[in-house]
Amino acid sequence: MLPTIVLVGRPNVGKSTLFNRLTRSRDALVADLPGLTRDRHYGRGMGASQPYLVIDTGGFEPTADTGILKEMAKQTLLAIDEADVIIFLVDARAGLTPQEFTIAQTLRKAQRPVLLAVNKTEGMRKAIVSADFHELGMGEPLSISSAHGEGVRDLIELALETV
Ligand code: GDP
Ligand code: MG
Repeated sequence: MLPTIVLVGRPNVGKSTLFNRLTRSRDALVADLPGLTRDRHYGRGMGASQPYLVIDTGGFEPTADTGILKEMAKQTLLAIDEADVIIFLVDARAGLTPQEFTIAQTLRKAQRPVLLAVNKTEGMRKAIVSADFHELGMGEPLSISSAHGEGVRDLIELALETV
């Protein structure tokens, strides 16, 4: 079984952009396993020395009855269940929102390693980004740019080391 990295975060932080970057190489066939739900996307990524499975939890459509918070909570719980390691993605441009604190609360209860990755940091000072996100209490924020690929390889190697 491949180590499984799960991408968690509120809508629009860049989960799918990161997922696409990680699974873009030619041998990254999207896993076609029985029993996979449609609201999560599964892909294969290749680390420096090993392949892994990556899950994008963001493919859900919140309905009027479930609401975005409820749906996110559900997705986060399902993701935790499948994860060897979780990448909690936040948005450097938007800063912290109440949704991040809700997700952090759920993740804290999980018996899984969590890496906090601050996305969209291209052209930003790392120290400033880091200071803003310490408040979440999820460890040292790691700056990345999914769109530009900055910090992405290091993030994945760190994630795989925790498995
Ligand atoms: P998701 O809802 O979490 O899956 O987020 P998406 O991957 O759909 O990205 C949301 C928006 O953020 C899109 O307009 C992306 O182009 C943009 N985005 C994603 N990654 C980056 C990044 O590293 N830098 C910047 N500036 N924009 C990004
Ligand atoms: Mg998405």
